[in-house]
Amino acid sequence: MNIPFLDLSAMHDSMRPALDAAYQRVMGSSSFILGKEVELFESEFAQYCETRHAIGVANGLDALFLVLKAMDVGPGDEVIVPSNTYIATWLAVSYAGATPVPVEPDPQTFNLDVSRIEAAITPRTRAIMPVHLYGQPADMDGINALAARHGLKVLEDAAQAHGARYKGRRVGGLGDAAGFSFYPGKNLGALGDGGAITTNDDVLAAKLRVLRNYGSERKYHNELKGFNSRLDELQAAFLREKLRLLDGWNVDRRRIADEYRAALEGSGLGVPHVPSWAEPVWHLFVVRSTRRDALAAALAQRGVGTVIHYPVAPHRQPAYAEMNLGVGSLPVAEAIHDEVLSLPIWPQMTALQLNTVISACRDAATSL
Ligand SMILES: *Cc1c(COP(=O)(O)O)cnc(C)c1O
Repeated sequence: MNIPFLDLSAMHDSMRPALDAAYQRVMGSSSFILGKEVELFESEFAQYCETRHAIGVANGLDALFLVLKAMDVGPGDEVIVPSNTYIATWLAVSYAGATPVPVEPDPQTFNLDVSRIEAAITPRTRAIMPVHLYGQPADMDGINALAARHGLKVLEDAAQAHGARYKGRRVGGLGDAAGFSFYPGKNLGALGDGGAITTNDDVLAAKLRVLRNYGSERKYHNELKGFNSRLDELQAAFLREKLRLLDGWNVDRRRIADEYRAALEGSGLGVPHVPSWAEPVWHLFVVRSTRRDALAAALAQRGVGTVIHYPVAPHRQPAYAEMNLGVGSLPVAEAIHDEVLSLPIWPQMTALQLNTVISACRDAATSL
């Protein structure tokens, strides 16, 4: 039996009539950009995230970048980012013209190590960008306390964490603003690209609505040099159908993650640690091994698909060669990138599929 890393077909098959109806609704309306579906999705998603506002945009990277623009973060400014994240977090800072300043993670949680942030703050620092990596919330109280002490903004990269809770509160409203991605494989995924910004700040929200739409509030009147970054009606209509099911899917992900954690404890593979205050949504289930490549090969041989999130740390990418951060400059991130492996997890994964992966992992771990 072959088990892919991710299979979205079961999800979409199970909700086919709702998705077809959403498509028909948009076709029938002949309204494709910034119409009713986007407006309704924005209010439903804001309610879901327990925030005052949600603003639909073209993708997750734009969500993060537009917030930094709206905060007037630009050339000469620094933004603190995790040293281990998907490169989009860093690129959002670079797009704004500012400089990403990496801070190492807590190796237990893979999220920003709050005790290391203060040393990275300079007079140029404008914001801290925690990432809720793999669907697990970062330690936001510690981050917000530091930000308040130094007069910094906090922008959550929540692209992997739709619905996750920190001390009972949903991510998305824990800082000044948050960016979400609706890339198809994310916990809430469109049938194409999409993204959203959430915030409780009325002024920031109003500016973002203008910035995403050519800097225009009233058609052909441009207050700002804006961008074209809009969530489209069709994706919003699909997302509305999926949002109704998201909590149930996250429950299924948690059940699968709990089974993995229980079954792989003591197998020799490092399993994710969950702090007492975290309610993760398991976008990814990531194990750790110093023999990661051999593990991936052994699982592939047993028909199990895996992916590495991520094989190369942002500071070691050619795209950031100008930072001159050589091997060993950010050792915690580098070790993580050398050792992590993501196992298959999706809400509709069957018990047979899950048990097959677990047996393959145990079997593979003993052969390492
Ligand atoms: C997916 C992702 C993004 C970017 O989202 P896109 O919609 O692909 O632009 C940003 N940050 C993180 C952590 C992500 O996983």
